[in-house]
Amino acid sequence: MTQATARITLPSDQNATGRSFGEEELALLRRAIESGILNCTKGTLVREFEERFGKLLGMPFCRTTTSGTAAIHTAVAAIDPEPGDEVVSSPITDMGAITPIIYQAAIPVFADVDPLTYNVTAKTIERKITRRTRAVIVTHLFGGACDMDPILELCGRHGIAVIEDCAQAYGTEYKGRPAGTIGAIGCFSLQQGKHMTTGEGGMVVARDEALSRRMRLFIDKAWGYGDPNPDHYFLAMNYRMTELQGAVALAQLEKLQAMTRQRVAMAELLTRRIAGVPGIAPPKAVPGSKHSYWKYPLRVDPAVVRGGADALGAKLKEAGIFCAPRYIQKLAFECEVLRDRNTFGKSKFPYVGEQRKGEPPVAYATADTPGAVEALAGVVVLPWNERYQPEHVEHIAHHVRRAAEELCI
Ligand SMILES: *Cc1c(COP(=O)(O)O)cnc(C)c1O
Repeated sequence: MTQATARITLPSDQNATGRSFGEEELALLRRAIESGILNCTKGTLVREFEERFGKLLGMPFCRTTTSGTAAIHTAVAAIDPEPGDEVVSSPITDMGAITPIIYQAAIPVFADVDPLTYNVTAKTIERKITRRTRAVIVTHLFGGACDMDPILELCGRHGIAVIEDCAQAYGTEYKGRPAGTIGAIGCFSLQQGKHMTTGEGGMVVARDEALSRRMRLFIDKAWGYGDPNPDHYFLAMNYRMTELQGAVALAQLEKLQAMTRQRVAMAELLTRRIAGVPGIAPPKAVPGSKHSYWKYPLRVDPAVVRGGADALGAKLKEAGIFCAPRYIQKLAFECEVLRDRNTFGKSKFPYVGEQRKGEPPVAYATADTPGAVEALAGVVVLPWNERYQPEHVEHIAHHVRRAAEELCI
């Protein structure tokens, strides 16, 4: 290792080194504070952000929420499943894309993923469709797009709504369409580590008017503001974002395209720099799609690299590259909440009860998702963000090459 590469520390999205906050955010925060209005129902900043984000995606409806999890909850609530209905999700995603299904009294079931794209496919979803399936939540993992056309065709045929989880997919495109605009509803997160952030927060976008109205209501206790005879129409939450978040969101939105461009440019540089390294492969994007690199998932072939992803990841960590071998240690359905059905009291609702009468019980088995097992076993997820410069990429490439060569069988 040369002295120059030894001294490099990578920008981190967990603090100022890897986040792009500055005068723009401060100026809008000052505007919010000086206005004396911190609530989005009376303020202008959150509404302005929603309008601009919707426009950026070309979506007529955009509303903010308090988190990405709240955005997914809002989307599922808009679909309004009957108790005991099923919603298909991915075993490799954030728990925030799953628990809202159960809060809406529906049961999450899991389609396998393609081990090379980490995403669910029409083929794997089809195997999970039953007469109780109401929706599919597809996660564009790490910023790589799902192959949406076959998924839309399949779900259209079965009358199933498609919800896109775009928490990791700002700027991701599929055949010229931005992620989040392809299915019925797109969901985003503004949590600390995403492409853009307000610390916590989220968005839902949609075209359909009825779904849009239900989502607007669900975020605000289903109170019919502006209606001739307003009431609280149905069971709903308060998921309203504050003007302080709106201020930061507006400032971040101005930077989103530049931040995403930098992520992509640096990721493409790494892909060039690791070309030909034995046992290592860059992420695979589906044809016609553009990756937006929330993270850089490095594929490791254990037949070439001794000890596979774990061994390579350990070496990268020794060099100060805080990567995640295997990404998540458990598939979603292996987590206690789902494995033990820790839901409402001791009821195991909605898995158990009248609403499932005559249905086979939903069972989760790791053996049902061999693609997901293979996907995690062979991945080292590299941290990525908009502050990376070529010197950071050269540093990562140097250590990836060195580790792979040392471990080469
Ligand atoms: C971050 C994330 C969420 C949840 O977002 P929060 O804002 O943390 O609630 C959901 N799905 C995916 C894929 C995520 O990465």
